[in-house]
Amino acid sequence: GTQGTNELIDMEVKYSAHNYHPVPVMFSRAKDANVWDPEGRHYLDFLSAYSAVNQGHCHPAVMKALVDQAQRLTLSSRAFHNDQFPVFAKMLTDTFGYDMVLPMNTGAEGVETALKLARKWGYEKKGIPNDEAVVISCCGCFHGRTIAVISMSCDNEATGNFGPMLPGLVKVDYGDASALQKALEEHGDRVCAFLFEPIQGEAGVVVPVDGYLKDVRRLCTEHNVLMMADEIQTGMGRTGKMLACDWEDVRPDVVILGKALGAGVIPVSAVLADKEVMMCIRPGEHGSTFGGNPLASAVGMAAVEVVKSENLAERSAILGEEFRQHLEKIRQKFPHLISKVRGKGLLNAVVMNQQGLGGVSAYEICVGLKERGILAKPTHDTIIRLSPPLTISAQNLKDAADAFEAVLEHD
Ligand code: PLP
Repeated sequence: GTQGTNELIDMEVKYSAHNYHPVPVMFSRAKDANVWDPEGRHYLDFLSAYSAVNQGHCHPAVMKALVDQAQRLTLSSRAFHNDQFPVFAKMLTDTFGYDMVLPMNTGAEGVETALKLARKWGYEKKGIPNDEAVVISCCGCFHGRTIAVISMSCDNEATGNFGPMLPGLVKVDYGDASALQKALEEHGDRVCAFLFEPIQGEAGVVVPVDGYLKDVRRLCTEHNVLMMADEIQTGMGRTGKMLACDWEDVRPDVVILGKALGAGVIPVSAVLADKEVMMCIRPGEHGSTFGGNPLASAVGMAAVEVVKSENLAERSAILGEEFRQHLEKIRQKFPHLISKVRGKGLLNAVVMNQQGLGGVSAYEICVGLKERGILAKPTHDTIIRLSPPLTISAQNLKDAADAFEAVLEHD
């Protein structure tokens, strides 16, 4: 286009709902971890569209799958079969080790699907009395923006004046297996599922204590409750394993994928489960016009293939370790400013000290980073998430760490 960043931002502010507060950078073109704005300024992407571009922007293999399929067939609806979805379904179930998949589009739809599946299973298999099913979720969770999904949120911004919220939901502290045990004992026979993120992303990359996932698995089994892992942000290699639950060799009953399943190209989400659970949903009981469409299936297959063939999970584990070492050195140099560096693989966060206590706000740091060509977004007041595409070079990770150090030095 011929229009510049400022002009386009003004246009957006005038004509678009104000449901976001973006950092004032405009993406115009991107390749791998690189982004250019309309003026040709170059940046490194350290958000990856909230982990949707694990494969890097405009990955050639994904682009080829997209263009080839777009020229043949884009949509049949599930009223008919299409020749891409069955192959995608087989690939997903083989890759992640489940019997069946239910395809949707956005992450929130995947979570909604998992909630519906859990309730059905609860009534039809566990024998929960009609309309009494309970889902347990975690304080600080983020699973999306639909009414059912925000009903699990503890965040006033997400829920304020959007009530009434959905009934049948109970919250427990995240990372606290004894809190989960207590809730299971209290609500016991009415609980159909425990829904959780293996690492809480939007909460600020909150990593639970080692053993938490194993404890959750044991408690869910003991109480005949579905263990449902929202791997929308943590899956597809992001944390250094194909699924974050793999870190503890734990197999959830239900896995939800999204974001990088579409390689940042089109929305593709999926719910994985075994037959016993998935067959609770019968023809006509749930669906989506676009879920499982041939274009999404072709892109989804390419997205998974790239993560596998380029060993992006292993890459993420190794590079993430290296990156945290760079960041840890910076923390040791500025202990009064940085309180913590945490994460797994390339899902990382730097936690700043409280501003009032001599610290500096996460937003100010992100503005400083942007001026040095690094794009990161603050979450809450003190946390900076750093989650580049898994294809990023070791040198670019070092560049970002150097930029971080420079921002703190000049503050
Ligand atoms: N679940 C998790 C863990 C997420 O991080 C997100 C998005 O940030 C979602 C669900 C919602 O996905 P979507 O925005 O595609 O609806």
